[in-house]
Parts: sequence; structure tokens; C-alpha cells
Amino acid sequence: RAKHDGKGRYAVFDRGRTDLEIARFTLSATLPAAIERGEFVVHYQPLVTLSDGALRGVEALVRWHHPTFGLLQPDRFIELAEETGAIVTLGRWVLAHACAQARAWRDEFGAAAPLLSVNLSPRQLEDPDLVADVTAILLDTGLEPGQLQLELTEQAVMRDEPGPLKALRALDDLGVGIAVDDFGTGYSNLSTLPRLPVRGLKLDGSFVRTLRGGDATNPTDELIVSTVIGLAHGLDLTVTAEGIETADQLERLRALGCDVGQGWLFAKAVPAEEITGMLRAHRSAGEPTAGRTGT
Ligand code: C2E
Ligand code: MG
Ligand code: MG
Ligand code: MG
Repeated sequence: RAKHDGKGRYAVFDRGRTDLEIARFTLSATLPAAIERGEFVVHYQPLVTLSDGALRGVEALVRWHHPTFGLLQPDRFIELAEETGAIVTLGRWVLAHACAQARAWRDEFGAAAPLLSVNLSPRQLEDPDLVADVTAILLDTGLEPGQLQLELTEQAVMRDEPGPLKALRALDDLGVGIAVDDFGTGYSNLSTLPRLPVRGLKLDGSFVRTLRGGDATNPTDELIVSTVIGLAHGLDLTVTAEGIETADQLERLRALGCDVGQGWLFAKAVPAEEITGMLRAHRSAGEPTAGRTGT
């Protein structure tokens, strides 16, 4: 751990000290204490079944309520947390916190409760305590393993190394789902995919952005999206499209047979209470819970 703190410092002093780097350094130095002070919050973004619009799951996305910088999005601190190793502690906190929340939804809403997706960094997958930590968190919170899905990027999952692969298999044996996040951006070896214990692919938002609807539809724009959907279904995996922002994109993804969608068209990541509110509103309306919140 000390070694990686040192690495962070070299990065600041070797290159010129730009404001950005000083800000980054300040953030990374204060991150471990911030975890203890309870400055992190988890927001949840709906995952919607495209065929019927039902709320299928939520993805836990961490934010940092920084005392001076305000609400920080993960792009400001996840990479730093990776570099310093603080991600292991932060990731464990996010997982425990989100699993407790998912259990509370399960208690209140039963089968209508959303599945929980949590991001796992490559560093966490290398942590020898990962499987024991996940097991303990599931036991402590009482969340069934089948309610949890862990999202890992291609670079983490598909590099074919014995340690991480063993952890993935152990998580799969526990009954926890594994999904490949940001699929299509990792330059990884596709031939490893059929051998991995994964249940889903999340198509990166950059591919969704190429989709146009109606008269503007262009078959070559859709080629990668339809190929990934075909690959996933051929391997019996669920495909989730990230970053759906327009009704045209949704229409094309539906037409191409994509299973699940996530994006600002449905809802942004919101505090847990807002998800609870959606679930209650739809329950009292006697309808299946729709992911669309009108935001
Ligand atoms: P990700 O796992 O790919 O999460 C999806 C990101 O896309 C989220 O950004 C989400 O807010 C954003 N997004 C969702 N819908 C739309 C849309 O329609 N348009 C656009 N432009 N963006 C959309 P966010 O919350 O800023 O998180 C960024 C990344 O930070 C995540 O990407 C994930 O890799 C990482 N991250 C977030 N929380 C955690 C965590 O608890 N642990 C770890 N290891 N990584 C995390
Ligand atoms: Mg993710
Ligand atoms: Mg993603
Ligand atoms: Mg992404």
C-alpha cells in the first residue's frame, strides 16, 4: 500500500504541478479518511427490461460528498482510488452499503424488488479477500446471492489469468452473477468469453450513441451493436445497453433484440429514497414497476 502511495507522489512531482494534478493529489491523500468520515454516498440508476419497460435492476454508482469540492462524480476519484489501492476499502463499503439497501427493497417489495448491480475494480478482483468479503456481506445483509450482479470491465475479466479467474469462478459458485462492463472497448481476446463464468454483457454507451432511428437508420452504424447482441445471445448471455439517451436509440435497440437498457432516457442515478418512491408509487398504482421516472 505504501508503495502505491509513493507512486502517486512521483506522479505529482515528476511532471509539472498543474492545478489539476494538485487537486488529484489532494483528493487521493484524503480519500481513505473520507471513507471513515462517511463522505461517500451510493446512487442507483434503473436498469429497464426493454420488452415491457419493467424495472429489472439498479446499478450502484458511488459519489463523494466532498466538504470543499462538493458532490464529486466517480470520474474524479475512482482512478485515484485504483492507483492508491483505496478502491479495495471503498469498494467493500459500496458493496456492503448497496447490499443492505437491496435487502431492504427485497423486504418491502418482494419479487418486485430490483436486482442489484455493483461495479468491481480490477484491483478488487486481485484482492485475495474478495470472495470471503462478498460471502460475509451477503450473510450479514441477508441478500440472496442471486439478487447480486458484479460488473467488471473486459480488461479485468477477460485477461485469462489464474488468480482472477479463480475468484470469478468462486463468485459464480456462490450464485452471484458476473457481467462484463463497457463491453466492446477493451481490445480483449474474444475467444476467452465462452469459457468465463459471466451471465451478461453491458454494451458500452459509445456504441449506443452511433444508433439513429427512423429514416436516419444506417445499417453500418448498427453493425457492431447487432453483432454484440448476436454474440451474447449465442452464448446465452443477457445484453444490457448503456447510455440510452433518445427514443430513437431505444427503438433501434428494441428492434435489434437487446434485453435490458440503462440511460438518461429512463432515469439518471438517484438516491435510494427515489428508487423506493418509484417502487411504492407503482405498487399502489397496481402496475408493474416501470423504469421511466420522467427525469
Ligand atoms: P459504468 O459502470 O459504465 O457506469 C455507467 C456510467 O454511465 C455512470 O457514470 C452513469 O451515470 C453513466 N450514464 C448512465 N446513463 C447515461 C446516459 O444516458 N448518458 C451518459 N452520458 N452517461 C450515462 P458514473 O456514475 O459517473 O460512473 C462512472 C464510472 O465510474 C462507472 O462506469 C464505473 O466504471 C465507475 N464506478 C462508479 N461507481 C463505482 C464503484 O462503486 N466502484 C467502482 N470500482 N467503480 C465505480
Ligand atoms: Mg457499471
Ligand atoms: Mg458500464
Ligand atoms: Mg461505460
